[in-house]
Amino acid sequence: AKQDGGNTLRFFAPEMQAHTRRSLELASGLKHATAHGELFLVFQPQCALDSGALTGAEALLRWRHPQWGLVSPAEFIPIAEQSGTIVAIDLWVLEHAALQLRAWDAQGLPELVVAVNVSAAQFGRPQFVEEVLATLQRVGVAPQRIEMELTEAVALKQPEQAEITIRKLHAAGFRVALDDFGTGYSSMSYLKRYAIDKLKIDQSFVRDLAEQGSDQAIVTAIIRMAQSLGLRTIAEGVETAEQAQLLQAYGCDEMQGYWYSRPLEPQAFAAFAQRHRSS
Ligand code: C2E
Ligand code: CA
Ligand code: CA
Ligand code: CA
Repeated sequence: AKQDGGNTLRFFAPEMQAHTRRSLELASGLKHATAHGELFLVFQPQCALDSGALTGAEALLRWRHPQWGLVSPAEFIPIAEQSGTIVAIDLWVLEHAALQLRAWDAQGLPELVVAVNVSAAQFGRPQFVEEVLATLQRVGVAPQRIEMELTEAVALKQPEQAEITIRKLHAAGFRVALDDFGTGYSSMSYLKRYAIDKLKIDQSFVRDLAEQGSDQAIVTAIIRMAQSLGLRTIAEGVETAEQAQLLQAYGCDEMQGYWYSRPLEPQAFAAFAQRHRSS
């Protein structure tokens, strides 16, 4: 196959090699990223659509690589999932989100809930719930302050096991949100079976909300379904006032997106929270 690849191969090979080299170096770099202090969290504010009050934040992971600078989680999370380092990284995220909550509490910020992303590899571990509880206990933060964001892919990989794990999370006091909702294959029956609190409407439905009738139909259907199941809704990727107004009119509870705020480093988040205190 090498020979008959001919010019095509010669044309693409260097680029592919560079890509593979970067992936390999990222994979090995990730093993030390936590110990070397290269990872940090940013926090994106979430707000109530009716009052505009700050309701919480999503913790989003950032990696400052010594050579390549800031690497996007969209690139390194899949690599961490393939190499298995994601389990340690997810726990690092939970611990540091909890440490940040304690620091904000000490600064007198209003008590917020922080959402963290849970990967399939972490969620599928038999000791998952015990591990996260032990981590929070060590830091001294109650599970009520943490929202676990699962994707449909994560939740539906092993539906029976997922149902049990979500119940355990709930019993321990965590909130559970279904992330990127509408992009997977979830059915009404799963939504009813799982002890989910919140649906996060995927940003792909929000992006063209003002222009696309089909997106309006999908988003209103999701909100109506959530309401009839007693679930809260949050729209992600809200970038314009028009999108926020439409979502509010549809009865969506909360929003997250650049229009309200970009993800912020802890200091900037604290300042934002002080400005957006509900009086
Ligand atoms: P996600 O969970 O769907 O996170 C939302 C992404 O949308 C974030 O990208 C956020 O910065 C971005 N975003 C927020 N508002 C807007 C907006 O108004 N417009 C647009 N265009 N984008 C917006 P980010 O931080 O690059 O993260 C990408 C993905 O990486 C996340 O998607 C999540 O799947 C994964 N990820 C991030 N942090 C973690 C983590 O700590 N653990 C795990 N397992 N995955 C993570
Ligand atoms: Ca998320
Ligand atoms: Ca999402
Ligand atoms: Ca996403």
